Amino acid sequence: MKNYYNKNFKANYDAIETIDNNVRRLLARNPSPFTFYGTGTYIIGKDELAIIDPGPLEEKHIEKLLNIIRKATKVKLLITHTHADHSPAAMVIKENIECTTFGFGPYKRKKFDTRFEEGHDLTFKPDVYLNDGDTVKGKGWTIRAIHTPGHTSNHMCYGLEENKILFTGDHVMGWATTVIVPPDGNMTAYLKSLKKIINYKYEIFYPTHGGPITKPKKFVKALIAHRLMRQTQIKNELSKNQSTIKEMVSKFYKTTDKRLWPAAEKSILANLLSLKDKGVVIDENNEQVRWKLI
Ligand SMILES: [Zn+2]
Repeated sequence: MKNYYNKNFKANYDAIETIDNNVRRLLARNPSPFTFYGTGTYIIGKDELAIIDPGPLEEKHIEKLLNIIRKATKVKLLITHTHADHSPAAMVIKENIECTTFGFGPYKRKKFDTRFEEGHDLTFKPDVYLNDGDTVKGKGWTIRAIHTPGHTSNHMCYGLEENKILFTGDHVMGWATTVIVPPDGNMTAYLKSLKKIINYKYEIFYPTHGGPITKPKKFVKALIAHRLMRQTQIKNELSKNQSTIKEMVSKFYKTTDKRLWPAAEKSILANLLSLKDKGVVIDENNEQVRWKLI
């Protein structure tokens, strides 16, 4: 998979960039191991705006967004999911200016572990709950909501129909593997959601972090193959030994920085749970530690 990832991205924190006809991007200054150079907020339209992922609670970013929004007649805020680098600015904007928020729904769990993923915005509740396939319209644009659970259960991708662009949030990123942290993160759902987006005719993907994916179908097929390769590796290992997750990580990630091993354990767990869904493995003692083939 390494060859597929593209880390060439010129972070521009100072200006709003035009990335396509009717589409601009404003980058928040919140770089981190989870966000790459930061959150890219997409602004669609001129007079009536759709804003995808207003972003984190970063004062300057919110101020710049408010300046753009003040010149518009209508504003719709669309949230891909409730990680803290995507949704929290929506509520601050709403307190300042009349606008409507859209999303699949709030985060349903109370706990998350910020060692493995961004924190969750537990306060976000959309004004409009979107279902898979719903459209949101404004002057000059039509956005289709596609429910893509996996990274989180409330993840949505948004297709800009006029431009054949899919805004993929964290579902598909060009610079790194999407983290799937159970229990809200779900590998079975993730693989299904990857297959789902291949069926649409979008020509380019814009993730919330990093640059565009210009050959989206090929890229997504490689992502699926990579995840399935990991599942095959797990099955092969379990056909020889009854292994714990820790033992598998120390074998599969031998050449990877040890600081990343705890995150790798979550990824292996997500794959094991997916294999369990398929009826291939069982979790001995139901403790999510030691696994064996059925
Ligand atoms: Zn996320």
